[in-house]
Amino acid sequence: MSDELKVSRRELLGTMAAAMVGLAAGAEPTPARAATRSAPPRALPARREFIIKNAHVLTMDAKLGEIRAGDIHVRDGAIVAVGANLSAPKAEVVRAEGMIALPGFIETHWHMWGAVARNMAGPTENTGYFYISRLLGQFFTPEDNARGVRLALAEAISSGITTVTNWSHNLLAPEYADAEIKVHKEVGARARFAYGYSRKTPPDATLPLNDVARVHRQWFSDAQDKLLTLGIAARGPETNSIEICRQEWAFARERGLPITCHMGTSMERVKKRQGIQALAKAGLLGPDVVLIHVTNNSPEDLKLLADTKTPVSLSPYTEMRTGFGIPPVGAFLRAGVLVSLSVDTTILCGNADMFAIMKAIENIENGLQTSEFAIAPQRVLEMATIDGARALGLADQIGSLTPGKRADIILVRSTDVNMLPFTVPTRMIVQAAQPSNIDTVIVDGRFLKRNGKLTTIDLAQLARDAADTIERSRKEASKEGAEKGINQLFTR
Ligand SMILES: [Zn+2]
Repeated sequence: MSDELKVSRRELLGTMAAAMVGLAAGAEPTPARAATRSAPPRALPARREFIIKNAHVLTMDAKLGEIRAGDIHVRDGAIVAVGANLSAPKAEVVRAEGMIALPGFIETHWHMWGAVARNMAGPTENTGYFYISRLLGQFFTPEDNARGVRLALAEAISSGITTVTNWSHNLLAPEYADAEIKVHKEVGARARFAYGYSRKTPPDATLPLNDVARVHRQWFSDAQDKLLTLGIAARGPETNSIEICRQEWAFARERGLPITCHMGTSMERVKKRQGIQALAKAGLLGPDVVLIHVTNNSPEDLKLLADTKTPVSLSPYTEMRTGFGIPPVGAFLRAGVLVSLSVDTTILCGNADMFAIMKAIENIENGLQTSEFAIAPQRVLEMATIDGARALGLADQIGSLTPGKRADIILVRSTDVNMLPFTVPTRMIVQAAQPSNIDTVIVDGRFLKRNGKLTTIDLAQLARDAADTIERSRKEASKEGAEKGINQLFTR
């Protein structure tokens, strides 16, 4: 009970703070801000019946395997059939000669609000990621968070990521969650909205659970719409007491909401807090919990994860960039732990490129094992597709091109210079392909990118919006930095 009271009070304060920000903005509207109001959302493209003809199909389905000159028949957002020489007289034909077709990539941890602060993490403690993201984030309005999510989604779709996990942790008030969810609805990519906290959430309080319940009721009551699913993003036992975790997990599990939290970012923390063992002891591990990073762990930790079927999410570029360590990919696999892949934050890692992430994972593991043969590209591609789906509990719907599953499909040009000549498609995708090779992105049977162009996002408007947000928040952050004697926050 006392916790609920705390939550209500915090939410009230958050709402008041947001209202005050609104008032302040209203008192001094800058011309730039007024000129960059987002346009009203467009309707999502219709789901049509179509057949993709003559692609080289990597189904990622163990039984169907790889199909040369393969066809994919799609109706009402579902895959009807996959095979060679399919007939579908009523379906629109999508010619795909020279394309590799595969399931869209599935991403399992991304702080999307921060996309508008791309590259803002500097090379010193006073300009680095943790300080800067906290500093900038506090000046974000709900609209700024929304712009971040829209930019992240634009990049996701551009680069063939059809499912994202919006690991939302700059939720300064309930309006921020609503603003982010609206963008997901408007853009149409598949997403898990993992309702988190803000850097201002007191460590001795839970997430704003009654607002999570409100969001669940308000935005997720339509059981038919499976494009957007809800989960919670917890701080976890390395930064919270296990008692807080217990309360958050109980809330989520009562409602069937999946859980995610960061873990094992330093060996010191692993030794001091024993996060995974604490979760295990409290019965808080399981297939419904995605643990992020776990770059530092003990053999006992890995056994507990495998025994409880708890998946992990690796984001190699941020893990290395921020010094969490080299992701121990093979250690997880040998222990029998499910591994999925993620972007984390482009504040740190620069871009959202699942091809680069896969290639990094392949090379890191071979480098760690000092072997050319430690991990195969096919295994890495599974992590970016079917294993991502398994980690999110969505493998019955996505992750492979299997009849009956939803149609989340990407077409990758094999005729671009970096792909020539056509050799072994799996290796071409993991080792040679780049986001610029993505021709078509289909989510739930809707074309969100076609002939290289996004269909649900106005990129010119988005560019203006992103520039406006980062210019304003940088100014405010620099002012606050200077007051603390920290200058040149963004120059080196
Ligand atoms: Zn993270």
